[in-house]
Amino acid sequence: MSQTSATPLAPVEIPSIPLAQIAPWALFFGLLGLLAIFFVSADQGAVSIPSGMLLHEFVHDGRHLLGYPCH
Ligand SMILES: [Zn+2]
Repeated sequence: MSQTSATPLAPVEIPSIPLAQIAPWALFFGLLGLLAIFFVSADQGAVSIPSGMLLHEFVHDGRHLLGYPCH
């Protein structure tokens, strides 16, 4: 036997964040994501700040996991 006691729920207030307040953070994390996608997909060590294949090797498994051509 199911008991359906209807207790009134308190109304949930959804906080609203103004767009002007969240836009700089969205831009920052969007650019950070694009940078991560670049390093995973296209970086071959030519433009890396620590020159060489360090970042390439660091994201190498992610590159293969996502199906980017590598070697
Ligand atoms: Zn590879």
